[in-house]
Amino acid sequence: MKPLQFLRDSDADVSILNGKTVAILGYGNQGRAQAQNLRDSGVHTIIGVRSGKSAVSAAQDGFETLSVSDAVKRADIIHILLPDERQGEIYQADIEPFITPGKTLCVSHGFAFVFGEIVAPEGVDAIMVSPKGPGTDVRSRYLAGSGLAGLIAVKQDASGNARSTALALACANGFTRAGVLEVTMEQETHGDLFGEQNVLCGGLVDLARCAYEVLTEEGYPPEVAYFECYHEVKLLADLMHTRGIAKTNEAISNTAEWGEYVNGPLIIDAATKERMRESLRRIRNGSFAKDWLEEAGKGTPNLFAKRKHCAEHPIEEVGARIRKLFE
Ligand code: NDP
Ligand code: MG
Repeated sequence: MKPLQFLRDSDADVSILNGKTVAILGYGNQGRAQAQNLRDSGVHTIIGVRSGKSAVSAAQDGFETLSVSDAVKRADIIHILLPDERQGEIYQADIEPFITPGKTLCVSHGFAFVFGEIVAPEGVDAIMVSPKGPGTDVRSRYLAGSGLAGLIAVKQDASGNARSTALALACANGFTRAGVLEVTMEQETHGDLFGEQNVLCGGLVDLARCAYEVLTEEGYPPEVAYFECYHEVKLLADLMHTRGIAKTNEAISNTAEWGEYVNGPLIIDAATKERMRESLRRIRNGSFAKDWLEEAGKGTPNLFAKRKHCAEHPIEEVGARIRKLFE
């Protein structure tokens, strides 16, 4: 596969947003950061939110704050920064009735489009502008004169300008200062879910907790298990992040490196890889999304139960004590 090209400020033209109104729907982690960046870049930005905490926060930040449906009516570009699992129902109730040809639907994660929760009507552009990091970084990097790298995608190009709109929004957010890659919504969405389910969340969390259980069940002190199997994850992650794997292995002891080579493949083996492929299949064929949307539709009772169960694991108690030492 050919390497993707990073698109930069010089590839974007923010002036195409002149005279347009962007409605940011939702004022949470991403909504707040992206709305402030767009406004500081001279883009006319309004906020669509339900009443409550987010609405108060948007008004305090000096934004014109409307209901979701009123914001959709007023806007040329509707940037949906609502929870992924709620986007479908909010789209049907408050967006679809008011979306007319010539408008643009935008998201920062393709979930709702890829799994059919939102189907852009004829005559409407559908794009994605996605930062590779949380809202706090989106905003702080913008303010520092740099930006977070990001991804853009075009799902439906009714106007012939969908890609230019995505690039202009990425530029106004500071993302093209760092570099933006053009992908498909499917690549972004499948990749994002796969990464969080197999490495970042499911994967890392379960690996560390399982190793903690083995040591403590074999009679080792919880404090030792926590330090060795959990605390030091950050040290390794930081090394991997800044140096890559080969140079990380130069930084760790020869003993640790040898242990990696002989034991790693016994833990992450061909069967693990096959289970990862199965997880990718469940993401691609929509069964993960179907189950999750069903759970969300019931008010996430199982999510709450699992969250409670997770908080009751012994690693939480010892972890809280040890983390205090590093405050
Ligand atoms: P948050 O949960 O932080 O914010 C969601 C916002 O939606 C809140 O303002 C919330 O308001 C509002 N909201 C929730 N339900 C409704 C409703 N029924 N009607 C109206 N408003 C509602 O979400 P994020 O900012 O994290 O995520 C937004 C999008 O950005 C998602 O698509 C996500 O995948 C994507 N994204 C997120 C990243 C991240 O790091 N967080 C990174 C890249 C992409 P209230 O306060 O009233 O609940
Ligand atoms: Mg993710």
